Amino acid sequence: MADERRDDKTELHADAVVIGGGLAGQAAAIHLARGGLRVICLEPRESFQQIAGESLDWSAPQLFDQLGLTMEDLVASGAATLKRHITVVAPDGSRQEYLPGAWLAERPWNVEIRTLHLDRIQMHNQLSRSAHAHGVMTLRERAAEFEIRNRRILAVATSKGRCIRASWIIDASGASASLLGREFNLKSIAYGPRKVAVWAHFRTENWVEGTTLYLLGPADEYMEWIWEIPIRPGVSSIGYVAPGSKIKIQRARGLTNGDLLSGQMRKFARLNSLVNDGPPERPAVTSFLCRTYSGVCGPNWIIVGEAASQSDPITGNGVTAALRHAAEASSLVCKNRHRARIPVLARAAYSMRVLEIGLFFNSLIEKFFYQYPLRARLGFFGTARTYTVPAWLTNLLYSRMRPRRLLGSVLFCSAMVAMRLVTWAAFQLSRFFAPRAGKSRQSDDERKEQRRALHTPR
Ligand SMILES: Cc1cc2nc3c(=O)[nH]c(=O)nc-3n(C[C@H](O)[C@H](O)[C@H](O)COP(=O)(O)OP(=O)(O)OC[C@H]3O[C@@H](n4cnc5c(N)ncnc54)[C@H](O)[C@@H]3O)c2cc1C
Repeated sequence: MADERRDDKTELHADAVVIGGGLAGQAAAIHLARGGLRVICLEPRESFQQIAGESLDWSAPQLFDQLGLTMEDLVASGAATLKRHITVVAPDGSRQEYLPGAWLAERPWNVEIRTLHLDRIQMHNQLSRSAHAHGVMTLRERAAEFEIRNRRILAVATSKGRCIRASWIIDASGASASLLGREFNLKSIAYGPRKVAVWAHFRTENWVEGTTLYLLGPADEYMEWIWEIPIRPGVSSIGYVAPGSKIKIQRARGLTNGDLLSGQMRKFARLNSLVNDGPPERPAVTSFLCRTYSGVCGPNWIIVGEAASQSDPITGNGVTAALRHAAEASSLVCKNRHRARIPVLARAAYSMRVLEIGLFFNSLIEKFFYQYPLRARLGFFGTARTYTVPAWLTNLLYSRMRPRRLLGSVLFCSAMVAMRLVTWAAFQLSRFFAPRAGKSRQSDDERKEQRRALHTPR
């Protein structure tokens, strides 16, 4: 700890400190407070104006329900709207819809076949109110340093010189901070190159109750894409995702973020008309690397959300993962609060689930969508179908089985490893037979960047 002679007034005590007040942090704080713990949440940001992550997969509503936010309430309050399907639009403008079959909603399956689009700002505000109502104390301070003994965190020092002593620490600091991953020098595995997303909100009269993914060509190169997510009546979030190296080249040509986004939107008739109606004003931009840490649980600390595992936005699994981590981490804390440490096997089981799910989604999306060989064989729509089935089933089975103990976690993770292996084998085969035209069109820089990201665990 930086300052040993600390003024008593600057020392606080709590049962748990949650670092980060994004989705994962707020969810963890609410779960812990509902479990009877005194919780302090550290979040330096005052304003949450540009949050990405509006399209939910089919498992997320149930996880919001566990926080006391039912699908009906969310829709009624305007924080969410219904999402009934995903539409994939190929570069030539042809399109196909993907939705779970109506028969799944019936007995004996009883699967919820509707999910949601979120207005993330409203969602953030609802969660803040709920955390406050449950007695969570939020401090506008940054976690700066940790007092650690034998891998146990004894206290957190904040940017304002405060020292918070707590039995439990949850790290929900997000992908760019990844506080405990860095502090404990945890190993991570990355998939794909660093990517950039540029997005903005557009007014639109045509309301579509689904997420649309516009895939950008050519079919034999590393993929770029655009999302269109209706977030509230009359407003859609539209974002462009591409490897950082490609964005760098376009910026070097003098293009602004607004030019980048509208330039790509103009390739599709519907999006072109939205740009013509009103070009994007000050689009938001972020860069991200899809990576997952191993060993994300210690004796009295747990990493959740993107600080533990960043999944690619096209998986639509980020919100589900964040809420799941938060629920599982809080349950581990509540269960072990009297013995003051998490048993080794429970730590291993949590870490394995976080790692394997992260690897599963990122590996499949990289091999099916982003890289071209399998996509070139299956076509854009065949790829979407082949990816959607295992991804959707994995989430459904996880929600039903709720693996928590070591044996259940090992069984579940083994199934995911098996699916990854099958995908890897199919990918290698298709790569062997695929034409090499796309590779030669990439610049040396892009190839180098992709190779480095694919083969260097971070
Ligand atoms: C471009 C993009 C599009 C996405 N689209 C989707 C989608 O359509 N569907 C989906 O399900 N998911 C999507 N995701 C993922 C989803 O947005 C995230 O998984 C989700 O928001 C969970 O975030 P988090 O709470 O883990 O991290 P964050 O939201 O990043 O929160 C971390 C918080 O920690 C705070 N913090 C950082 N350092 C400190 C510190 N030292 N002390 C205290 N606080 C700190 C930060 O201020 C921040 O508020 C997308 C992600 C991206 C990047």
